[in-house]
Amino acid sequence: MVKTRFAPSPTGYLHLGNARTAIFSYLFARHHGGSFVLRIEDTDRERSKKEYEEMLIEDLRWLGLDWDEFYRQSERFEIYDQYAKKLLETGHAYPCFCTPEELERERQEAQRRGVAYRYSGRCRHLSPEEVERLKREGKPYTIRFRVPDGRVVTFNDLIKGPIAISVDDFGDFVIVRSDGTPTYNFVVVVDDALTGITHVIRGEDHIPNTPKQILIYEALGFKVPEFAHLPVILGEDRSKLSKRHGAVSVRAYREEGYLPEALFNYLCLLGWSPPEEGREVFSKEELIKLFDLKDVNDSPAVFNKEKLKWLNGVYVREVLPLEELTERALPFLKRANYELVEPSYVKRVLEYARDAFDTLTEMVERLRPFFVREVEIDDELWSFLEDEKAIAALSALYDELLNRKPETPEEARKLVKEVQKKLKLKPPQVWKPLRIALTGETEGVGVDLLLALLPKEVLLTRLRRVLERLT
Ligand code: GLU
Repeated sequence: MVKTRFAPSPTGYLHLGNARTAIFSYLFARHHGGSFVLRIEDTDRERSKKEYEEMLIEDLRWLGLDWDEFYRQSERFEIYDQYAKKLLETGHAYPCFCTPEELERERQEAQRRGVAYRYSGRCRHLSPEEVERLKREGKPYTIRFRVPDGRVVTFNDLIKGPIAISVDDFGDFVIVRSDGTPTYNFVVVVDDALTGITHVIRGEDHIPNTPKQILIYEALGFKVPEFAHLPVILGEDRSKLSKRHGAVSVRAYREEGYLPEALFNYLCLLGWSPPEEGREVFSKEELIKLFDLKDVNDSPAVFNKEKLKWLNGVYVREVLPLEELTERALPFLKRANYELVEPSYVKRVLEYARDAFDTLTEMVERLRPFFVREVEIDDELWSFLEDEKAIAALSALYDELLNRKPETPEEARKLVKEVQKKLKLKPPQVWKPLRIALTGETEGVGVDLLLALLPKEVLLTRLRRVLERLT
């Protein structure tokens, strides 16, 4: 059975790149009827934070992911201890008493000679007696993995193809720090092996770690899983997507009013080519059915925020059922402290105006006149209203609205047209002051929609306030 995992370190917000890794791992498992594991990699006690863990979990759930098993590395130290002991016993690892200063000197020496730094292996050959003595003296030590000399580690990456890395690229590496905490390359192997992960899917920045991990698999007699390294995501300028490119966390997009379905869908398009060319909108269920690693490209994908925004707009207008859209919209409207947010009213407004925005923060801004009780009118806009014809039009409309409130945009346009004809005015001579009176703006959502949807008393109050000041 296929079993994959997502293994974030709780050291920050969930980055879009990591979210894509999570999604691809998830889809691959679900596509093959397998299971998906979430593992929190928090062995680095200084950088890991509980708040980040909570936010990661919340954001993954928000994206629509679910998992069958959950692990937290900080709860598994005893297990890692056991395997570190085993590696020591079998001679695959050894204690290293080199001090940070000694290692720093080695590093500087390498730098001076212009060669890549590798641990010299000074403690490789300490006799058991010497080790005992140093331990008795209370000298701190790390545990290093004994890398076999001259090996070239090869593996067949499911995305990148065959990869060969010589162990000369790295020396004996630390698997347990001097404070007793185990390191990433070591625990990742123990966990993946013990939990039966069949496919390790992660970012390509981990390729240099993979040979180290394979050596540990071999040393512990574990079966080596398949590896699939995903190409990086780039910004528009073709450098690795980072904060310099603006918002890069799932949280930021969530707060900006992006829909999880749209973000999920968009992230899949970054590096995966759907079998059906040209199609871009996919539900999670369809993605589970279609996704396979063989369709993941081995070259980097470019993140395009405009495209994501467009796709979000498609979900707003065409994909999400109206009920659902209303539910997503309400918290945004409430957070903006709008007053007219009764759910059935919001739903009716969205039914007519869902094509006016791509994201929910755009909705908050553009549909404002529907949801606030009163609008402000700038001094400079009053000059348009201080005009005989404008006043005549607004008071005629006010009188009409008193006894017939239009219920649809068509009825609203009919009513305005009648007033316009009766007063022998041109259409803009009525529509423009009306827009300013109802919205405090000179452009935006359809005034016919406002007339049809805003509650009668709200319409009348807005017009009355204007007329009282003008007359
Ligand atoms: N904690 C690692 C990271 O966040 C996981 C790497 C892996 O998937 O093996 O990059």
